[in-house]
Amino acid sequence: MAHQFEESHPFGPAVARLVEQFSRLPGIGRKSAERLAHHILGCSKVEALALAESIRNVKEAIRPCSKCFNLTEGVLCRICSSSQRNKQVVCIVEQARDVIAMESSGAYEGVYHVLQGRLSPLDGIGPENLTIDALVRRVREDEVQEIVMATNPTLEGDGTALFISNLLAEHPVRITRLARGIASGSVLEFANREMLADAMRGRQAF
Ligand SMILES: [Zn+2]
Repeated sequence: MAHQFEESHPFGPAVARLVEQFSRLPGIGRKSAERLAHHILGCSKVEALALAESIRNVKEAIRPCSKCFNLTEGVLCRICSSSQRNKQVVCIVEQARDVIAMESSGAYEGVYHVLQGRLSPLDGIGPENLTIDALVRRVREDEVQEIVMATNPTLEGDGTALFISNLLAEHPVRITRLARGIASGSVLEFANREMLADAMRGRQAF
């Protein structure tokens, strides 16, 4: 679909490529991509290059935290390096953006483990594609006392949580899950702050 703009843009192939790139962004359709391209064409060169540079910077500077796989510019993320956080409580989320959602609730003082996805046999995503091995190692080595499952309340999110809890069954760790204030099938990222805070406070045995 994206290729239909190529060659065909009245301003030529360079603009066609820019429109095509924008149209690949989430939530950006053909019209919005066209509008963004016109904005870039109309703004100063300094402004446009600052945007290009900041995209390059995040791609070069940001990487997964070596402990929890949250995104960071350093070796350890801010949460893992903070002395204020309880390292014995680990909240499991699917994506780094879920950490941001959870943090906005202000109701959690433990640390995280980012799976970098969820189990999805139909898409060929198995345990080896996620950071599950690292999690098990962490539970063993860091004397983790509680695992809080905060995968999304979807079929795949629940399946992932179940898989992990089975895997950890032999370890002396308490496994809890967020209270079901979050509507089933919804996504953590879009839950509001109060809902997440309630879900964290009301967490229950898995
Ligand atoms: Zn971290």
